Amino acid sequence: MQRLEASIRNIPDFPKPGIQFKDITPLVKDPAMLKLTVHQLIQPFLGLKLNAVVGMEARGFIFGSLAAWELGIGFVPLRKPGKLPYDVQSVSYDLEYGSAELEVHNDALNSNDRVLLVDDLIATGGTAIASCQLIEKLGAEIVACAFVIELDELKGREKLSQYRIHSLIHY
Ligand code: AMP
Repeated sequence: MQRLEASIRNIPDFPKPGIQFKDITPLVKDPAMLKLTVHQLIQPFLGLKLNAVVGMEARGFIFGSLAAWELGIGFVPLRKPGKLPYDVQSVSYDLEYGSAELEVHNDALNSNDRVLLVDDLIATGGTAIASCQLIEKLGAEIVACAFVIELDELKGREKLSQYRIHSLIHY
């Protein structure tokens, strides 16, 4: 876990003053660290019945699709507005820096689906709770949410108190 932490780069004041940006690009470039991260992300869920991983644009796509591959299940992308070509459901939410919107294809999930939500980082939890709402709008069940990084002081976990949360590195 210390090696994992060492492969995450801190960028002060990005994308605006006061934000300590956690840059995961050195981690994903290192094959051993990437493998370790994906294995640790899915480890608590190996025995559970899951049939989709949902990941948020853009860094959730990296870890989410690898997690889906390892679990042998499908991947569903939540995308920024205007990117998905078919009928969508959307949700708006606040970020640590600004506000945003996410969309999902209407037919991407249904009430038979049991989902693992994956993103690189949880800060305020706004993105994750909005994503959970979007998934639940389609009738699917959220079994757990997994993050590589959790920024503890922003208390995102409290917003997600009704869900099972798994994070690898805490700051
Ligand atoms: P939040 O909605 O506040 O939990 O923010 C989580 C989302 O914003 C994730 O998709 C992260 O990729 C991104 N994010 C927020 N804060 C940071 C940060 N300090 N470093 C890197 N990414 C961040």
